[in-house]
Amino acid sequence: MDIKKIMIAHPEVSKMANYEEILWINPKSGSEASIPFGMSDIDDAEARLARFAPYIKKAFPETAKTGGIIESNLVEISNMKSQLVKMTGNFDGRLFLKRDSHLPISGSIKARGGIYEVLKLAESIATEKGLLSPDDDYSKLDSDEFRKLFSQYSVAVGSTGNLGLSIGIISAKLGFDVTVHMSADARQWKKDLLRSKGAKVIEYPDDYQKAVAEGRKEAASDPMCHFVDDEGSTDLFLGYSVAAKRIVPQLKEAGVAVDAEHPLFVYIPCGVGGAPGGVAFGLKEMFGENVHIFFAEPTHAPCMTLGLVTGLHDGIAVRDIGLDGLTDADGLAVGRPSRLVGTVMETLLDGCYTIEDDKLYPFLAHLADREKIYIEPSACASFTGPALVSAAAEYLKEKGLADKMQNASHILWATGGSMVPDSEMKLYYERGK
Ligand SMILES: *Cc1c(COP(=O)(O)O)cnc(C)c1O
Repeated sequence: MDIKKIMIAHPEVSKMANYEEILWINPKSGSEASIPFGMSDIDDAEARLARFAPYIKKAFPETAKTGGIIESNLVEISNMKSQLVKMTGNFDGRLFLKRDSHLPISGSIKARGGIYEVLKLAESIATEKGLLSPDDDYSKLDSDEFRKLFSQYSVAVGSTGNLGLSIGIISAKLGFDVTVHMSADARQWKKDLLRSKGAKVIEYPDDYQKAVAEGRKEAASDPMCHFVDDEGSTDLFLGYSVAAKRIVPQLKEAGVAVDAEHPLFVYIPCGVGGAPGGVAFGLKEMFGENVHIFFAEPTHAPCMTLGLVTGLHDGIAVRDIGLDGLTDADGLAVGRPSRLVGTVMETLLDGCYTIEDDKLYPFLAHLADREKIYIEPSACASFTGPALVSAAAEYLKEKGLADKMQNASHILWATGGSMVPDSEMKLYYERGK
């Protein structure tokens, strides 16, 4: 790979190689493309989650309030908006936080895709054995009979943490024999929590990609093992996409119109790309060109940005441009983007931006002070987005948005945090102060 040539063709890459923050506007956004999924796939995933709601409600009583539907609130954060304007620059419109940080069961956005993939697996096994049909009350899966059935199968996943939590918790609950392959930099509390739920945890001294590779290798030798492939799973992707359908009534309730006069901007932290990609795909299906989506990544591991800027997707890694790939932002320390998501985002995504690790903590502390909401550092990676995009005059002009920003709504997608132990959260908060 001729990196020099790449840097000449794409000046952003030179900046990225220097750990500089960038905003990249996607020149292909909105152009024609054949995307391998459609609305019917989102509907199918939503219906499957609805079938499982009685099971989820029974197995995880904390979901009783929502009838076994795993969903988070959308809240307006006006106090934080004033603060963000001071910290990052002015922007017009309303500011919201999507609290996937507080999703039940596993406390991160992974409670969408991760849990969905394992539920789908359980459904297909039980259906194939003639023990389950779509009209059944799925709460019957919470029984020794089904746990015994699922115990003959195993589930494996490679993860930096949050995906492992969600796959480990739901798999163990259903009765699967589950192994989470983790990089050594994963937080100790996540490993402890997983083990306490009955999951096996195997640690690797190398990075996340190595953990995934080891997990894949082990699973491939076992026909009874399902490997959750964070780098290319369609099930994960579609599980995440359901969020978009469910946010429609939430926006309505908040009095937010989304149309040509009222643009919606969504900012999501990105690791390998599955979670933000699935949500972005769903949002584009729901709102078309009236929603504008940006991914946020750490300056040390901007894998999706690098793949999109160069058009090489998973054919280039952050190490190829000399970056170390090391970041405090759990879940974002990913060197190479998903082979599935990069190409799908090529025409859907409006752009990407990067942020220095040190900025995450002050955002975390201010959100706690101003809104009494605690999220993890990686979930704060998106917070510079509204000011960055609002200052991108050329982009706004080209999209016909320049005179519409007073009517805009901005959503910061908070991707994780509620499972972080208080003692750790206190350290993050103090660092931010
Ligand atoms: C996983 C995760 C992300 C990003 O999701 P990807 O699918 O890896 O892109 C962002 N924030 C948090 C807290 C996460 O756990």
